Amino acid sequence: MNQSEKLFERAQIHIPGGVNSPVRAFKAVGGTPPFIEKADGPYIVDADGKQYIDYVQSWGPMVLGHNNPAIREAVIAAAQNGLSFGAPTEGEVTMAELVSQMVPSMAMLRMVNSGTEATMSAIRLARGFTGKDKILKFEGCYHGHADALLVKAGSGALTLGVPSSPGIPADYAKHTLTVEFNNLDSVREAFAAHGDDIACIIVEPVAGNMNCIPPVAGFLEGLRSICDEHGAVLIFDEVMTGFRVARGGAQERYGITPDLTCLGKVIGGGMPVGAFGGKREIMQHLAPSGPVYQAGTLSGNPIAMAAGMAALQQLQQPGLYDTLTDNTRLLAEGFRHCAKKHRIPLTVNYAGSMFGVFFTDIDKVTNYQQAINCNVEQFSRFYHGMLDAGVYLAPASYEAGFVSLAHDRTIIEQTLDAADRVMAGL
Ligand code: PMP
Repeated sequence: MNQSEKLFERAQIHIPGGVNSPVRAFKAVGGTPPFIEKADGPYIVDADGKQYIDYVQSWGPMVLGHNNPAIREAVIAAAQNGLSFGAPTEGEVTMAELVSQMVPSMAMLRMVNSGTEATMSAIRLARGFTGKDKILKFEGCYHGHADALLVKAGSGALTLGVPSSPGIPADYAKHTLTVEFNNLDSVREAFAAHGDDIACIIVEPVAGNMNCIPPVAGFLEGLRSICDEHGAVLIFDEVMTGFRVARGGAQERYGITPDLTCLGKVIGGGMPVGAFGGKREIMQHLAPSGPVYQAGTLSGNPIAMAAGMAALQQLQQPGLYDTLTDNTRLLAEGFRHCAKKHRIPLTVNYAGSMFGVFFTDIDKVTNYQQAINCNVEQFSRFYHGMLDAGVYLAPASYEAGFVSLAHDRTIIEQTLDAADRVMAGL
C-alpha cells in the first residue's frame, strides 16, 4: 500500500467516504485519490512524493497557480495581527471597493464564507426583494448544496422540482423550476406558466459543473430580457467564472449585466470565501439596512480578505487574461489533434481558462443530456492514464478543468505529450 492508500483507509473510519467533499473520493473514475501534501505553480505533490501537473487548481481559485508568493506573504502578514475579530475591518472595505471596481454591476456586495452561502443568500434576497417564491435554474448547473438549489427537474420544462437528495422536503423543492441550459424556449415556457411567481433566474453563465458548456449566442441576452419582462431578478453564479473567464467574469466577457452576482473561491485566493452583490436597490434590502436577514460570524475574515486582495491585485496585470486564453486554446486544440490522430471521438469546449473534454461524437455539446451521454468508461481510462503519466485532471467526466497562469507553453506541451501516449492506448 502506498501512503495515499493508507491515508484513504484511515480517512474512511471517521470521515464519511473518507473525504470532506464528495467528488474528491474518485467515485466517478474509481481508484484511490492521491492525498496532497503540497503544491506550487502548476504542480501538486502527493503523500508519496509524486508530482502532477494540476488542472483542478483547487476547483478554480488558483488562477495565478498554486502557492503564489504574494498571496502567501499577505496571509502570513495578516495572521501576525490576529485571525478574526467579528468586528469591521479596513480590509473588508478595500476588498468591496476592489471587487466593485472589477465587476461594476456589483455596486454593493457582502462577503460570505463559501459559494453555497453566496447563492443561498442571493436567492433569499431575490425572493425578499420581489415577494415571489419560485426560482428557475438549469439542468446540470450546480450552485452549491443549499436546499432550494439541490433540485433537478424530471423530464419536461414545466415539471415542478423534486429534490435530488434525501433530506430536502418536497414542499420546499417544489418552488424550484428546472429547465434546459442553452434553451430559451424552455425558459419562456416556464415563465408562461409561472411568470408571476418567479423571483429569479440563477445561471452559471458558463456552465462548469456538467463539464464545460459555454452559453450559445443569444442565451444570456435572452435571459436578461425575460427577467426584465417579468420583473424577475437575474442572478449570475460566477463562483467559477468570476475573475477566471475574464477580469470582470462572464458578464464582462459576454457583455450581459445581471442584477446579482455570486462569487466564491477565486476572491479568496484559496481561502474559504464567497460574496454576493449587485444593484444597490436590491442589496439595500439586506439586513441591517433592510429586512432580508443574512449574517456570518467569520464573514469578511481578515486573513481571507488579505489573500483575496493579493490575488485580485495581481489579476490586474495587462494581458494576463489573453495569456490564459491562449494557453487554454493551445491545450484544447492539442487534445483535439491527439484525438483525431488516434481516431477517438472527442469534443473539447473551452471559455477563457475553463475547459472540458467530452468523449463523444457529438460536434457541439451544449446541454446536460449531451454531457451525460458521453463515454464515461473511456473517460475513466483516459483519466487514469493521464494520472499515471503525472497529469491530474478533475476526477469526473462532468467537471470543468482549469488552466492557470503557471501553465506555460512547456507545461501544456508536456500535458499533450502525455495525452498522445495515453490516447494511443485507449
Ligand atoms: N456555484 C458554482 C458555480 C460552483 O461551481 C460551486 C462549487 N463548485 C458552488 C456554487 C458552491 O461553492 P462552494 O463549494 O464554495 O460552496
